[in-house]
Amino acid sequence: MTDAFDVVVVGAGIAGCACARELTDAGVQVAVVEHDAPGGGATAAGMGHIVVMDDSPAQLALTHYARSLWQKLTSELPASVEYEERGTLWIAADHEEMTQVHTKHATCTGDGVRSEVLDAVALSEAEPRLRTGLAGALLVPDDAILYPPAAARYLLQAAQRAGARLIRGTVTRAGNGAVTLSDGTMLASDHIVIATGVEVSMFPWIRLKKRKGHLVITDRYPGFVRHQLVELGYLKSAHATTSDSVAFNVQPRMTGQLLIGSSRQYMQEDATADAGLVDRMLRRAYEYMPQLASLSATRVWTGFRAATSDKLPWIGPTHDPTLYMLAGFEGLGITMAPAAARLLADHLLARQSAIDPGPYLPERMARAETILV
Ligand SMILES: Cc1cc2nc3c(=O)[nH]c(=O)nc-3n(C[C@H](O)[C@H](O)[C@H](O)COP(=O)(O)OP(=O)(O)OC[C@H]3O[C@@H](n4cnc5c(N)ncnc54)[C@H](O)[C@@H]3O)c2cc1C
Repeated sequence: MTDAFDVVVVGAGIAGCACARELTDAGVQVAVVEHDAPGGGATAAGMGHIVVMDDSPAQLALTHYARSLWQKLTSELPASVEYEERGTLWIAADHEEMTQVHTKHATCTGDGVRSEVLDAVALSEAEPRLRTGLAGALLVPDDAILYPPAAARYLLQAAQRAGARLIRGTVTRAGNGAVTLSDGTMLASDHIVIATGVEVSMFPWIRLKKRKGHLVITDRYPGFVRHQLVELGYLKSAHATTSDSVAFNVQPRMTGQLLIGSSRQYMQEDATADAGLVDRMLRRAYEYMPQLASLSATRVWTGFRAATSDKLPWIGPTHDPTLYMLAGFEGLGITMAPAAARLLADHLLARQSAIDPGPYLPERMARAETILV
């Protein structure tokens, strides 16, 4: 017998779980198919920095909208999600980077994102363990931190409480109104959502690249760092499309642990941690905060970001009228998930969206065929 659903979501990462929650809230009958632990995949590997990014107007619109949706969720999030508005400090190493601080401040102000320029003295008061001699920073106080796998699981459980069904299994085919699992189970739906992160081999037309990242987690050092700290050079690292790159990016967890990142590598299929790259990443972190070198690290892991050629996700319909995409979030999927899910739900339910969904439509993939990342 083939079960039928209004919507079948393939993948229970943060995107699929947010989508299931959004749709069940609107009374839609949803099934989520997952072949691993819900909230595993890239979601479990991510840092959980909820951050407004302004690489492009479309990225700014989506991340700002997404952050506001996370803020609305805070009253219901359980303690296990560890949501905290710590704020981001975008650190300028020198006067040239201070120019970027002012530019970013103007962009934030223009979009209604609160931010504050800190000079060198104010920066060292805000984060006394940073090395001396840094030029200043931009503080974005409403940016937040959460624990991504717990957030995904919470959203899925909320969807399940509202009637969503979680089906364990591997999807081997999806399209033309049907989803086939490896055990032969068939599900029928006119709305199938691809939320499989980097696992898109069953859709050869999807032009996505894996971008490997490493993170180090330390033992517990409560109060060692107060904000999410990111060097402004991170933006260069996130934009680099060819070489391996590292950047200073440190996050204080509610447990007192510190997450130390970040790295970006293309052309890597192997999930094994690269000792040389981890060493480079840590040395970069020590340049900004020398005392980090005295902390004990407990674990290193890697994950794969799903990178698109124009650094925006794909949210919406595809050439197959029964297939919809919710993928391609690169390093911002935890941040973007609630907004991406809302935009897709708006489309499926013919609702007006709060922001223009145009820049994220998958139809642009065809236009980008020749400018692959
Ligand atoms: C090191 C690192 C740090 C990051 N830091 C941040 C950060 O600070 N802030 C931020 O916003 N983002 C961050 N990201 C990005 C973020 O983690 C991802 O964008 C996000 O988790 C993607 O979520 P997803 O649901 O699209 O994919 P995933 O979490 O990968 O979920 C996809 C799910 O689909 C399932 N699946 C796949 N194929 C099938 C199939 N055939 N059948 C059944 N199930 C299937 C998988 O098992 C998986 O559970 C980071 C990423 C990395 C790697």
